[in-house]
Amino acid sequence: MKNIYKNSFYNLNKAKKILEKNKIIAVPTETVYGLAGNAYSNKSVKRIYNLKKRPKKNPLIVHYYNLDLLKKDAKYDKNFLKLYKKFSPGPLTYILKKRKNSKISKFANAKLKTIAVRFPKNKAIRSLLKKLSFPLAIPSANISTGVSPTEPLDVVDEFKNKVKFILNGGKSIIGLESTVINLSNKPRILRPGAISNIQIGKILKKKVSNIAGSKLIVSPGMLKRHYSPGIPMKLNSKKADYKAAFIVFGKKYKMKKNMFNLSKNSNLKEAAKNLYKVLRKIKKLKYKKINVVKIPNKNIGIAINDRLKKASK
Ligand code: AMP
Ligand code: MG
Repeated sequence: MKNIYKNSFYNLNKAKKILEKNKIIAVPTETVYGLAGNAYSNKSVKRIYNLKKRPKKNPLIVHYYNLDLLKKDAKYDKNFLKLYKKFSPGPLTYILKKRKNSKISKFANAKLKTIAVRFPKNKAIRSLLKKLSFPLAIPSANISTGVSPTEPLDVVDEFKNKVKFILNGGKSIIGLESTVINLSNKPRILRPGAISNIQIGKILKKKVSNIAGSKLIVSPGMLKRHYSPGIPMKLNSKKADYKAAFIVFGKKYKMKKNMFNLSKNSNLKEAAKNLYKVLRKIKKLKYKKINVVKIPNKNIGIAINDRLKKASK
Protein backbone atom coordinates (compact mmCIF):
# COMPACT_ATOMS: atom_id res chain seq x y z
CA MET A 1 0.00 0.00 0.00
CA LYS A 2 1.53 3.26 -1.07
CA ASN A 3 0.27 5.38 1.84
CA ILE A 4 1.72 3.08 4.55
CA TYR A 5 5.18 4.24 5.68
CA LYS A 6 7.60 2.23 7.79
CA ASN A 7 9.11 3.73 10.92
CA SER A 8 12.38 5.22 9.64
CA PHE A 9 14.32 8.42 10.26
CA TYR A 10 13.37 9.69 6.82
CA ASN A 11 9.66 8.90 7.21
CA LEU A 12 9.45 10.37 10.72
CA ASN A 13 10.77 13.65 9.31
CA LYS A 14 8.21 13.44 6.54
CA ALA A 15 5.44 12.90 9.13
CA LYS A 16 6.74 15.88 11.13
CA LYS A 17 6.57 18.14 8.08
CA ILE A 18 2.97 17.13 7.34
CA LEU A 19 1.94 17.75 10.96
CA GLU A 20 3.68 21.14 10.97
CA LYS A 21 1.46 22.11 8.04
CA ASN A 22 -1.52 21.31 10.28
CA LYS A 23 -2.45 18.28 8.22
CA ILE A 24 -3.55 14.89 9.54
CA ILE A 25 -1.73 11.56 9.49
CA ALA A 26 -2.51 8.13 10.93
CA VAL A 27 -0.28 6.78 13.69
CA PRO A 28 0.17 3.55 15.64
CA THR A 29 -0.30 3.29 19.39
CA GLU A 30 -0.26 0.23 21.63
CA THR A 31 -4.03 0.58 22.17
CA VAL A 32 -5.39 1.25 18.65
CA TYR A 33 -4.35 3.24 15.54
CA GLY A 34 -5.22 6.93 15.62
CA LEU A 35 -5.63 10.03 13.49
CA ALA A 36 -3.07 12.59 14.63
CA GLY A 37 -2.95 16.36 14.33
CA ASN A 38 -1.23 19.28 16.07
CA ALA A 39 -3.20 19.73 19.32
CA TYR A 40 -2.24 23.44 19.44
CA SER A 41 -3.82 24.14 16.06
CA ASN A 42 -7.56 24.78 15.62
CA LYS A 43 -7.22 23.94 11.97
CA SER A 44 -5.68 20.51 12.63
CA VAL A 45 -8.19 19.62 15.29
CA LYS A 46 -11.15 20.64 13.13
CA ARG A 47 -9.76 18.48 10.33
CA ILE A 48 -9.73 15.46 12.65
CA TYR A 49 -13.37 15.97 13.64
CA ASN A 50 -14.39 16.35 10.00
CA LEU A 51 -12.50 13.29 8.79
CA LYS A 52 -13.97 11.11 11.55
CA LYS A 53 -17.43 12.70 11.37
CA ARG A 54 -17.08 12.94 15.13
CA PRO A 55 -19.58 15.03 17.13
CA LYS A 56 -17.88 18.25 18.26
CA LYS A 57 -18.97 17.59 21.85
CA ASN A 58 -16.81 14.46 22.13
CA PRO A 59 -13.35 15.68 23.29
CA LEU A 60 -10.06 14.22 22.06
CA ILE A 61 -7.12 12.79 23.97
CA VAL A 62 -3.93 14.87 23.72
CA HIS A 63 -0.77 12.76 23.44
CA TYR A 64 2.61 13.85 24.89
CA TYR A 65 6.14 12.51 24.87
CA ASN A 66 6.73 13.42 28.52
CA LEU A 67 5.95 16.15 31.09
CA ASP A 68 7.94 18.95 29.40
CA LEU A 69 5.07 20.33 27.32
CA LEU A 70 2.32 19.04 29.61
CA LYS A 71 3.50 21.34 32.44
CA LYS A 72 2.39 24.37 30.45
CA ASP A 73 -0.94 22.90 29.41
CA ALA A 74 -2.37 21.21 32.53
CA LYS A 75 -2.33 21.26 36.31
CA TYR A 76 -1.53 18.04 38.08
CA ASP A 77 -1.02 16.73 41.60
CA LYS A 78 0.77 13.95 43.52
CA ASN A 79 -1.77 11.33 42.49
CA PHE A 80 -1.06 12.06 38.86
CA LEU A 81 2.69 11.81 39.41
CA LYS A 82 2.37 8.47 41.20
CA LEU A 83 0.33 7.01 38.34
CA TYR A 84 2.52 8.62 35.70
CA LYS A 85 5.60 7.02 37.23
CA LYS A 86 3.99 3.59 37.31
CA PHE A 87 1.90 3.45 34.13
CA SER A 88 3.24 6.00 31.63
CA PRO A 89 4.17 5.68 28.87
CA GLY A 90 1.27 3.26 28.48
CA PRO A 91 -2.47 2.77 27.99
CA LEU A 92 -3.70 5.17 30.69
CA THR A 93 -5.42 8.50 29.95
CA TYR A 94 -5.67 11.18 32.64
CA ILE A 95 -8.35 13.87 32.82
CA LEU A 96 -6.65 16.96 34.26
CA LYS A 97 -7.53 20.63 34.76
CA LYS A 98 -6.51 22.67 31.76
CA ARG A 99 -4.33 25.72 32.42
CA LYS A 100 -5.83 29.10 31.47
CA ASN A 101 -2.89 29.94 29.21
CA SER A 102 -2.63 26.45 27.75
CA LYS A 103 -1.95 26.36 24.01
CA ILE A 104 -4.28 23.39 23.46
CA SER A 105 -6.94 24.18 20.88
CA LYS A 106 -10.30 24.73 22.60
CA PHE A 107 -11.85 22.38 20.05
CA ALA A 108 -9.64 19.50 21.19
CA ASN A 109 -11.34 19.36 24.60
CA ALA A 110 -14.78 20.52 23.41
CA LYS A 111 -14.32 23.83 25.30
CA LEU A 112 -14.29 22.06 28.68
CA LYS A 113 -12.18 23.16 31.68
CA THR A 114 -10.42 19.80 31.65
CA ILE A 115 -8.27 17.94 29.12
CA ALA A 116 -7.57 14.28 28.54
CA VAL A 117 -3.86 13.46 28.21
CA ARG A 118 -1.88 10.30 27.49
CA PHE A 119 1.71 9.19 26.93
CA PRO A 120 1.62 6.36 24.40
CA LYS A 121 4.18 3.59 24.56
CA ASN A 122 4.41 2.37 20.95
CA LYS A 123 7.97 2.96 19.72
CA ALA A 124 7.08 4.65 16.43
CA ILE A 125 4.67 7.18 17.92
CA ARG A 126 7.15 7.95 20.72
CA SER A 127 9.91 8.62 18.20
CA LEU A 128 7.59 10.97 16.36
CA LEU A 129 6.38 12.81 19.49
CA LYS A 130 9.98 13.33 20.56
CA LYS A 131 10.67 15.27 17.37
CA LEU A 132 7.70 17.65 17.71
CA SER A 133 7.34 20.97 19.52
CA PHE A 134 3.63 20.33 20.09
CA PRO A 135 1.51 17.44 21.44
CA LEU A 136 -0.79 15.44 19.17
CA ALA A 137 -4.57 15.19 19.40
CA ILE A 138 -5.23 11.54 18.55
CA PRO A 139 -8.64 9.86 18.50
CA SER A 140 -8.99 6.37 17.01
CA ALA A 141 -8.59 6.23 13.22
CA ASN A 142 -12.14 5.19 12.34
CA ILE A 143 -15.34 6.89 11.29
CA SER A 144 -17.19 7.90 14.48
CA THR A 145 -19.16 5.10 16.26
CA GLY A 146 -17.32 2.36 14.31
CA VAL A 147 -14.77 -0.26 15.23
CA SER A 148 -11.26 1.01 16.06
CA PRO A 149 -8.37 0.00 13.76
CA THR A 150 -5.53 -2.09 15.13
CA GLU A 151 -3.23 -2.22 12.09
CA PRO A 152 -2.37 0.01 9.10
CA LEU A 153 -4.64 -1.83 6.63
CA ASP A 154 -7.64 -1.21 8.90
CA VAL A 155 -6.97 2.52 8.54
CA VAL A 156 -6.95 2.16 4.75
CA ASP A 157 -10.23 0.26 5.12
CA GLU A 158 -11.76 3.20 6.99
CA PHE A 159 -10.44 6.18 5.06
CA LYS A 160 -9.23 4.83 1.68
CA ASN A 161 -6.96 7.53 0.21
CA LYS A 162 -8.34 10.34 2.39
CA VAL A 163 -5.45 9.68 4.78
CA LYS A 164 -2.28 10.00 2.75
CA PHE A 165 0.27 9.04 5.39
CA ILE A 166 -0.03 6.08 7.75
CA LEU A 167 2.94 5.45 10.02
CA ASN A 168 3.44 1.71 10.40
CA GLY A 169 4.11 0.66 13.98
CA GLY A 170 3.00 -2.97 13.67
CA LYS A 171 -0.17 -4.40 15.14
CA SER A 172 -1.50 -2.70 18.27
CA ILE A 173 -0.43 -5.01 21.08
CA ILE A 174 -3.34 -4.18 23.40
CA GLY A 175 -6.08 -3.70 20.82
CA LEU A 176 -8.55 -1.81 23.05
CA GLU A 177 -8.70 1.90 23.86
CA SER A 178 -6.91 3.26 26.94
CA THR A 179 -8.28 3.30 30.48
CA VAL A 180 -9.54 6.83 31.23
CA ILE A 181 -9.21 8.11 34.81
CA ASN A 182 -10.61 11.41 36.00
CA LEU A 183 -8.07 13.19 38.23
CA SER A 184 -9.71 16.64 38.03
CA ASN A 185 -11.88 15.52 40.92
CA LYS A 186 -12.07 12.43 43.14
CA PRO A 187 -10.18 9.75 41.14
CA ARG A 188 -12.61 7.60 39.16
CA ILE A 189 -12.37 5.40 36.09
CA LEU A 190 -14.47 6.80 33.24
CA ARG A 191 -13.58 4.11 30.72
CA PRO A 192 -12.16 0.68 31.56
CA GLY A 193 -9.08 -0.52 29.68
CA ALA A 194 -5.96 -2.65 30.04
CA ILE A 195 -5.02 -0.97 33.33
CA SER A 196 -7.69 -1.80 35.92
CA ASN A 197 -9.16 0.20 38.80
CA ILE A 198 -7.58 -2.39 41.14
CA GLN A 199 -4.06 -1.73 39.78
CA ILE A 200 -4.64 2.02 40.04
CA GLY A 201 -6.09 1.69 43.54
CA LYS A 202 -2.94 -0.10 44.69
CA ILE A 203 -0.76 2.82 43.60
CA LEU A 204 -3.05 5.51 45.03
CA LYS A 205 -3.59 3.44 48.20
CA LYS A 206 -7.36 3.89 48.00
CA LYS A 207 -10.38 2.31 46.41
CA VAL A 208 -10.97 3.66 42.89
CA SER A 209 -14.38 2.97 41.44
CA ASN A 210 -15.37 2.20 37.88
CA ILE A 211 -17.95 4.79 36.99
CA ALA A 212 -18.19 3.28 33.53
CA GLY A 213 -21.47 1.44 33.19
CA SER A 214 -23.20 3.53 35.83
CA LYS A 215 -25.92 6.00 34.89
CA LEU A 216 -23.97 9.12 35.78
CA ILE A 217 -22.98 11.32 32.85
CA VAL A 218 -19.39 12.23 33.55
CA SER A 219 -17.73 12.11 30.21
CA PRO A 220 -19.11 13.76 27.13
CA GLY A 221 -19.57 11.43 24.23
CA MET A 222 -19.51 8.31 26.35
CA LEU A 223 -23.17 7.43 26.30
CA LYS A 224 -24.15 6.73 22.74
CA ARG A 225 -23.42 3.74 20.57
CA HIS A 226 -19.72 3.24 19.99
CA TYR A 227 -17.21 0.65 18.80
CA SER A 228 -19.95 -0.80 16.61
CA PRO A 229 -19.53 -2.99 13.52
CA GLY A 230 -22.96 -1.76 12.35
CA ILE A 231 -24.50 -5.24 12.66
CA PRO A 232 -27.03 -6.31 15.35
CA MET A 233 -25.19 -8.02 18.20
CA LYS A 234 -26.54 -10.26 20.92
CA LEU A 235 -24.39 -10.77 24.03
CA ASN A 236 -24.19 -13.65 26.54
CA SER A 237 -25.38 -16.16 23.90
CA LYS A 238 -25.02 -19.92 24.35
CA LYS A 239 -25.33 -20.60 20.62
CA ALA A 240 -25.58 -18.82 17.29
CA ASP A 241 -28.93 -17.66 15.87
CA TYR A 242 -29.88 -18.58 12.30
CA LYS A 243 -27.15 -17.44 9.85
CA ALA A 244 -25.37 -15.43 12.56
CA ALA A 245 -21.63 -15.15 13.17
CA PHE A 246 -20.70 -16.57 16.58
CA ILE A 247 -17.90 -15.07 18.68
CA VAL A 248 -16.62 -17.55 21.27
CA PHE A 249 -13.94 -17.69 23.97
CA GLY A 250 -12.11 -20.77 25.30
CA LYS A 251 -11.32 -24.25 24.03
CA LYS A 252 -14.59 -26.12 24.56
CA TYR A 253 -16.02 -25.12 21.15
CA LYS A 254 -16.13 -27.28 18.06
CA MET A 255 -15.29 -24.65 15.50
CA LYS A 256 -17.49 -24.14 12.43
CA LYS A 257 -17.21 -21.69 9.54
CA ASN A 258 -19.36 -19.04 11.24
CA MET A 259 -17.39 -19.21 14.51
CA PHE A 260 -14.60 -16.88 15.61
CA ASN A 261 -12.58 -17.61 18.72
CA LEU A 262 -11.21 -14.59 20.63
CA SER A 263 -8.83 -16.86 22.56
CA LYS A 264 -8.66 -20.66 22.53
CA ASN A 265 -6.52 -20.48 25.68
CA SER A 266 -9.13 -18.44 27.56
CA ASN A 267 -6.60 -15.61 27.73
CA LEU A 268 -8.39 -12.29 28.21
CA LYS A 269 -5.43 -10.22 26.97
CA GLU A 270 -5.39 -12.20 23.75
CA ALA A 271 -9.17 -11.80 23.45
CA ALA A 272 -8.84 -8.01 23.84
CA LYS A 273 -6.23 -7.93 21.11
CA ASN A 274 -8.42 -9.97 18.76
CA LEU A 275 -11.81 -8.35 19.41
CA TYR A 276 -11.75 -5.56 16.81
CA LYS A 277 -9.98 -7.75 14.27
CA VAL A 278 -12.75 -10.33 14.56
CA LEU A 279 -15.52 -7.70 14.35
CA ARG A 280 -13.94 -6.26 11.21
CA LYS A 281 -13.64 -9.74 9.65
CA ILE A 282 -17.28 -10.58 10.40
CA LYS A 283 -18.37 -7.33 8.81
CA LYS A 284 -16.32 -8.04 5.68
CA LEU A 285 -17.91 -11.48 5.41
CA LYS A 286 -21.29 -9.68 5.33
CA TYR A 287 -22.92 -11.44 8.26
CA LYS A 288 -26.18 -9.77 9.25
CA LYS A 289 -26.13 -10.75 12.89
CA ILE A 290 -23.59 -11.57 15.63
CA ASN A 291 -23.91 -13.67 18.76
CA VAL A 292 -21.25 -13.41 21.45
CA VAL A 293 -20.69 -15.81 24.35
CA LYS A 294 -20.35 -14.52 27.89
CA ILE A 295 -16.86 -13.11 28.49
CA PRO A 296 -15.46 -13.30 32.07
CA ASN A 297 -15.90 -9.88 33.69
CA LYS A 298 -12.50 -9.54 35.33
CA ASN A 299 -9.21 -7.77 34.50
CA ILE A 300 -9.26 -6.60 30.87
CA GLY A 301 -12.47 -8.63 30.44
CA ILE A 302 -14.23 -5.65 32.05
CA ALA A 303 -13.03 -3.46 29.17
CA ILE A 304 -14.01 -6.10 26.59
CA ASN A 305 -17.52 -6.26 28.04
CA ASP A 306 -17.74 -2.45 28.11
CA ARG A 307 -16.96 -2.29 24.38
CA LEU A 308 -19.28 -5.21 23.53
CA LYS A 309 -22.12 -3.56 25.41
CA LYS A 310 -21.68 -0.28 23.56
CA ALA A 311 -21.19 -2.04 20.23
CA SER A 312 -24.48 -3.87 20.73
CA LYS A 313 -26.51 -0.67 21.33
P1 AMP B 1 -11.43 8.20 21.96
O1 AMP B 1 -10.80 9.37 21.28
O2 AMP B 1 -12.48 7.53 21.11
O3 AMP B 1 -10.44 7.26 22.56
O4 AMP B 1 -12.27 8.80 23.15
C1 AMP B 1 -11.69 9.59 24.14
C2 AMP B 1 -12.52 9.44 25.37
O5 AMP B 1 -12.03 10.31 26.39
C3 AMP B 1 -13.98 9.84 25.09
O6 AMP B 1 -14.82 8.85 25.60
C4 AMP B 1 -14.14 11.14 25.81
O7 AMP B 1 -15.44 11.30 26.29
C5 AMP B 1 -13.09 11.06 26.92
N1 AMP B 1 -12.63 12.40 27.25
C6 AMP B 1 -11.80 13.17 26.51
N2 AMP B 1 -11.61 14.37 27.09
C7 AMP B 1 -12.33 14.36 28.23
C8 AMP B 1 -12.55 15.31 29.27
N3 AMP B 1 -11.99 16.51 29.28
N4 AMP B 1 -13.35 14.94 30.28
C9 AMP B 1 -13.93 13.72 30.33
N5 AMP B 1 -13.76 12.78 29.36
C10 AMP B 1 -12.98 13.09 28.33
MG1 MG C 1 -12.73 6.07 19.21
